[in-house]
Amino acid sequence: MSFEKYYEVFKAYSDIYSDEYRKRIETLELLLMKHMPSKGRVLDLACGAGGFSFLLEDLGFQVVGLDSSEAMLERAREFARDKRSKVEFVKGDARELPFEDSSFDYVLFVDSLVHFEPAELNRVFREAARVLKPDGRFIIQFTDLRELLSVLMNGTVVGAEYWVSRVLTDDEEKTAVIEFQSEKESFRVRFNVWGKTAVELLAKLYFRQVHSENLNEHTYFQVYVPKK
Ligand code: SAM
Repeated sequence: MSFEKYYEVFKAYSDIYSDEYRKRIETLELLLMKHMPSKGRVLDLACGAGGFSFLLEDLGFQVVGLDSSEAMLERAREFARDKRSKVEFVKGDARELPFEDSSFDYVLFVDSLVHFEPAELNRVFREAARVLKPDGRFIIQFTDLRELLSVLMNGTVVGAEYWVSRVLTDDEEKTAVIEFQSEKESFRVRFNVWGKTAVELLAKLYFRQVHSENLNEHTYFQVYVPKK
């Protein structure tokens, strides 16, 4: 039961040249341009294969990508070589960032809530606020998995080859084990389940929300400024 398998099979997260990944970038590009009005230093938090880091570099930002997974960073560095990118990819933990206070103009956090339990996400948000300059912005995109679970339970097709064959939640729906099935195999991943309200309540401890919009029925794009 691992995220590694999940990221290996779903190109939306592992192959920046795939249609699925490109679509994610296209969805956010104009919004990022609108909400990142001045150029500066950006932390792409939990950067994965680095697609958003490269986008922001192309838009003129100085970018650091941080991720805890060596496998993801290897992918990102390989894409960076291919693109002759200057993005600095750093191995680190979003819960304890290896950066100085007030050292970034923006922190971008895309699609990564599912990795973190409540106490951990609290630490991630606190760290994001700490490394942001007082007038910096915390930009997040996430899917309300609490709302999406009931949809997934109906055998949703994911990617080109897999469909959801089972969704097992714990009593309090804090985590959900999702089983992905293809013609050839099946595998399971345990996700932390975050709803919009819980994300906003946690963010409120460290940030003031300045923008929120729906990207689709269950996905949100939000912008925060640190309370400092
Ligand atoms: N933001 C990227 C994107 O949108 O393509 C990657 C999103 S991927 C769904 C989630 C990423 O979070 C993975 O690359 C995973 O390795 C990373 N991650 C999980 N736990 C982490 C932690 N404690 N610190 C830093 N990164 C973490």
